[in-house]
Amino acid sequence: MPEQLTTLSQSSLQDYQDCPRRFELRHLQRLDYPAIETEPALENEKHKQEGEYFHRLVQQHLIGIPAEQVGKLANTENLQRWWANFLDFRSLQDFGSLYPETALSAPLGKFRLVAKYDLIAVGKDQVTIFDWKTYRKRPKNEFLHIRWQTRVYQALLVQAGAHLNHGKPFAPEQIEMIYWFADFPAEPARFIYKSNQYKRDWDALIKIADEIASASDFPKTDTVSKCSYCPYRSYCNRGIRAGDAADAELETEAEELFDINFEQIGEIAF
Ligand code: SF4
Repeated sequence: MPEQLTTLSQSSLQDYQDCPRRFELRHLQRLDYPAIETEPALENEKHKQEGEYFHRLVQQHLIGIPAEQVGKLANTENLQRWWANFLDFRSLQDFGSLYPETALSAPLGKFRLVAKYDLIAVGKDQVTIFDWKTYRKRPKNEFLHIRWQTRVYQALLVQAGAHLNHGKPFAPEQIEMIYWFADFPAEPARFIYKSNQYKRDWDALIKIADEIASASDFPKTDTVSKCSYCPYRSYCNRGIRAGDAADAELETEAEELFDINFEQIGEIAF
């Protein structure tokens, strides 16, 4: 394992699990993306930028800028729809104390595990992790449940969130994670956490961190379908032209690869 790798995140862990070779290219060699992920390229690029911008709008609002003022910046059809959906959603929520774009980290084997949360909302007896998604398709809960993002965000909040709870670690049972989909505002995915899940997740995190620390080679995935939208195809002789992501889960994975990666900011800041 190259010595320069000091942090792990949900996205690097997901890459390692999906394809060790992708982990190597992206997180060890830090190669820029040489190919456009899915077709049609321009539309995807625009959607990604709008997704980033939407996160900024929500963040600005949550730190206190009035909705009317922020809403004026929603200057595309998608942004206007997402923003209107968000305001409807916001009006129904009692968030409690808000911690938007909060970074947490904790030691994990030879690494630090880092995560940047869109929003941690601390109520009287419970805490909710919100993650905003601008996916074009609503992935299944079963798919989201086993993603490293869900597992890392919840486990790390137990492990490193005590300062948000008067110095006392949150109990897993106090934690809920909600993925809110800007284009499917009435269909959030909610995951309640449990102590046995926390134990299982943290054990799994330690195991995968140890595996990465001692890894000497990073093989290509055997699941060739993962290559069809992977930006590193040209490095791997797995095709040059990107595939169309046809089903919801595949498309989600494709979008996730280029997701708003606030973690990168977090990694620099720590
Ligand atoms: S193209 Fe396939 S083998 Fe190569 S990094 Fe991407 S997923 Fe892995």
